[in-house]
Parts: sequence; C-alpha cells; structure tokens
Amino acid sequence: MKPLHTILFSFILGTTVLNAQKADLIVTNGKITTMDSKNPEVQAVAIKDHKIFQTGTNAQILKLKGSSTKMIDAKGNRVIPGLFDSHLHVIRGGRFYNTELRWDGVKTLKRALEMLKEQAQRTPKGQWVRVIGGWNEYQFEEKRLPTLQEINEATGDVPAFVMYLYGKAWLNKAGLKELNINEDTPNPMQGLIEKDTHGNPTGLLVAEPNAFILYSTLAKLPELSEEEKVNSTLQYMTELNRLGVTAVMDAGGGFQNFPDDYGTTDALNKQGKITVRLPYYLFAQKKGSELSDYTKWVGMVDIDDHGHNGHNDIDYHVEGGGENLVSDGADFENFLFPRPELPSTMEKSMKDVLSLLVKNKWPFRIHATYNESISRFLNVIEEVNKETPLNGLVWFFDHAETVTEENMKRIKALGGGIAVQHRMAYQGESFIHRYGKKAALASPPVKKMLEMGIPVGLGTDGTRVASYNPWVALYWITSGKTLGGNQVMAKENTLDRKTALSLSTYGGYELIKDYEKGKIQKGYYADLTILDKDYFTVNEEDIKNITAKLTIVDGKVVYGDESYKNAAPAALPVLPDWSPVKYYGGYQTK
Ligand SMILES: [Zn+2]
Ligand SMILES: [Zn+2]
Repeated sequence: MKPLHTILFSFILGTTVLNAQKADLIVTNGKITTMDSKNPEVQAVAIKDHKIFQTGTNAQILKLKGSSTKMIDAKGNRVIPGLFDSHLHVIRGGRFYNTELRWDGVKTLKRALEMLKEQAQRTPKGQWVRVIGGWNEYQFEEKRLPTLQEINEATGDVPAFVMYLYGKAWLNKAGLKELNINEDTPNPMQGLIEKDTHGNPTGLLVAEPNAFILYSTLAKLPELSEEEKVNSTLQYMTELNRLGVTAVMDAGGGFQNFPDDYGTTDALNKQGKITVRLPYYLFAQKKGSELSDYTKWVGMVDIDDHGHNGHNDIDYHVEGGGENLVSDGADFENFLFPRPELPSTMEKSMKDVLSLLVKNKWPFRIHATYNESISRFLNVIEEVNKETPLNGLVWFFDHAETVTEENMKRIKALGGGIAVQHRMAYQGESFIHRYGKKAALASPPVKKMLEMGIPVGLGTDGTRVASYNPWVALYWITSGKTLGGNQVMAKENTLDRKTALSLSTYGGYELIKDYEKGKIQKGYYADLTILDKDYFTVNEEDIKNITAKLTIVDGKVVYGDESYKNAAPAALPVLPDWSPVKYYGGYQTK
C-alpha cells in the first residue's frame, strides 16, 4: 500500500494536470463567426492564457470546464472576433472625450441643440461647451447645419465651440470674447475668420485652405486635470468596447505630442488597465523639424518592445511613424474645397524622413487622400527602396479615396497596404458636389484593392472628421450609402458582409503582419464580442445600430450590458461631474 502522502501528492498532481487542461473562460450557446475558413461557425469557445484554446459544439467545449472556469452564455446571439479599427485617433480622443458633447448618431438638429443648451447650463465657469466633429447635417431629419444664431441662443454666455468635420467651426459670442477674437484679429496663416459687413467676427472659422485654424483654436481650450484625463481615457475605451472594438491602431494627430501627451495611456498600461489593443504611430508635429524629431524618436524607442506590462498581453507600443511624416505631405481632405497641391519641397523632406525610418526598420503609414498625392509619395518610396530596400517592412497608405489602379500596382509591388475609413459616409455628399457622382462610385476602390491582393484594413478616422462608431463603417462599406442614406458608392463596388467584417478583424491585422489576432481560432488571441443584433441577417439600415452585449479582450471580459452586469467590471463613475458623457453616454440613438 502506498503511503498516504504519496496518494495525496498524486491526487494534487492529478488535479493540477487536469486543471492545466481546463479553460479560464468558456462562451456557450453562440452563433459564433470565427473567420477561420476551415471552421467558419461554431457554438462555443474555450479561452485559456489570453488565447483561444478550442472551438466547437457546446458538448465538446463543456468538457474543458474546470472548477474555476468562468462561464458566459451567449444566449443564441451572434458572436464575432473583436473589431479592429485600423485608423482612429484614440489616445488624443481619450484625453478629451469627457469634455466633448458628441453629436455622433443624434437624429435631429432639434435634439442636438437641446443637448447643447442643457450642456451649457451645467458647464462651470472656466470651461467650454464643445462639439468636436463626428457628425454631419445629413444625419439630422432637418438636413441642415445649425446657424450661429441657434448656437448663441442655446449657449448664452457660456463659451462654445462647435466643429463640423475638419471644415469649419462656430464660436459663440462668449467664445469669441474668451479667445479675444475681435475686429482687429487678422486671419491666421492658413485659415479664415469670417467677418460681417461691419468688420466684426461672426463666430464662423473656416478651414481654408486647411484645418490648422481649427486644430489651433481647439488647442487653446482648457484641458482636464490628470485624474480626469485618466477617467476620460478609460470611459472612451469602454465606449469602444461597447461597440465591440477590441483593438485600435492609433494614427497620432495634430497637437498630439510624443512623449508628453502619452502620459495618461502610459500610466494606464503600466497598471494593466487598457481595454483595447493599442499599437500607435508617431505623428510629426512641427514643420521644419520633422527629421530631427524622428531622429530623436528613433533613438528613444525600441520598435520591437511591445509594451508588455506583466498584467496582460495587450499591445501598447510605438508601431512606427505616421500618419503625417512631414507637414508638406498633408493633403487635407476637406471636399468642400478644391484639392490642395502639395508644395514642391515635399519630396525632399519626405525622402529624408522615410530614409531614416526605413534604415531603422520603422514601419510607416502615410495620410494620403488624393491619387495625385499618392503618385508623388510613391515616387519617393520607390527612390528610397532603391537605396535601402524595404524588404517586407510594414507600410501603408491611409484613406486613398481616389487612388488609381496604376498606383495600386505600385503599392503592391512595394509590399504596401491601404487603410480605408468611412470618411465618405460623412463627406460623400460634398465629394459628389465637387467631383460628380461618377467619381464617387468607387471612392475608395476597396473591391479593386482586394482583387489585386493588397492588404486592406477598415477603420473610422474618428473622432473629428468622422465618428468612431465602427458599425457606421461596416454599414457604409456594405451598402455604399452615406450616414444620410444617400447612395454614393456603386453597389458593385460594395463588399458583402463577411468580407467587410474581415477588413475590420484579421484583415486589419494583416496590414501590420500580425497573424495571431482577429479570428476565433485556436492559438489566436482571445478578443471577441457578443452582439445585440445579428450582423449577418439584420436589415441594412440596422447595421449602424449594432452594439455589443459583452466584449472580451485578451481573454478578459471588459464590457457587459445590463444583461451581463454580473460578468463584467462595474461601470466607472464619470469625472468631472459636468461631463456630457455622464448625461448622454457615447454614440446616440435618438
Ligand atoms: Zn489622415
Ligand atoms: Zn486620421
């Protein structure tokens, strides 16, 4: 007979071995779209050590249930891999989210103005009411923009700034006073302050020829305290999780300085509190010092350091340079105005920066709206490639609304990709107004890109030129319609729902050659979301209204709606007290 302690030992060893084969978390009863071509739809999924452990039927997966396995019942709902927004200004967006009254999704101008009025009443002295993009007039039943008079009536003596895409912004009277803009104020270098017949500023700021006037005015408004910025960033990431987003590729942005403006997300990452995967790109800020800035950054950052923090396996790291590498390369996408011609100095400054990045094996992305700009950028990339071969280095263009087949061939030959966004859902009408219906039929030519075998990611370019809601992007790319329901893209250039979803999941990851995310497949990272409506069968108009019931990032539940309250972390109270987010939440439905 074996001594008791040996029996006990083998028993403990036995359970440990058994538990080693048990899942950390199991989702059952789902209609689970895996995006795994060998096994496209399953009922249940087991997760272990941040990754997908196994997929199959309820019975198969329940065998992996151990004593400490967390169980989630998907209740027959559609489950998909978590969404990956390959172009969103999330770090900057997070810093300001709690200060912004978002009109994203608001159905009537009447409601928008009501919200403006309510928010003005609760805004304390020293703060502003700000509406910062993510909406347009076609989403409103009234199909028109607010007037300055309406904005002034709604806000009274509380300073207010209402921004419309990156096209224009309205300052109310109190805002003009606060910023000392008066009859003597000259137009800034690249913008227009509208004045009435008496020479007094009306409050309208026009981004002509570019958005600098809007960026720089915004930068003058007060920021939140550090504690509030932390809260704001967490609220914003939760809002993304509420929409099923589990990863975002950050594209930098104007007035988003490295490393100063990354302090909030750096701190949250150290504590393991980030709830979206977050590879980010460094955006040049100062004209003339781009090369020295990138030289500095290349020296500061180890591009292979993926920011792991000991708490989870969520990426938070510098992915490369972009989306603006040099100020000369910014072809501003305001379709209300003619296409800007990039200055003749662009090639030299771009080549200097690109050579540096390529030599240091830094991936890069380039903001490029128009084919004319893309042609010139490609000339530079081809030249750099001759001197220092790209050799499979990750790089891609952003936007590319009017890219031609000829240039797509050049992109492919250089191993590049394209990240497209739903900007046309917001600016399709103004694009047609300027370039005609025909030009809009395949802008951007996504189907062609895919046919040619170019990696393509789908994103939003939120938060200013468009909303951050990824379901609007999926609606636009599958229907070809704008937010206002106007058909801009030709039906034959739209994508079927599954292909569209692939661009928002593993397709986006292919842009950065990350082949272990974006599918619910054994060995992939466990990012998934249970939807409140079935994306594959819901009527077209309802795609825009899909939200998540529950979202899992890196094997952990990060968001649950009312019905999953017990499975998810409790909602964090919003700071500060007057924040519009506290009263309205995020994307609106009425
Ligand atoms: Zn851009
Ligand atoms: Zn952008």
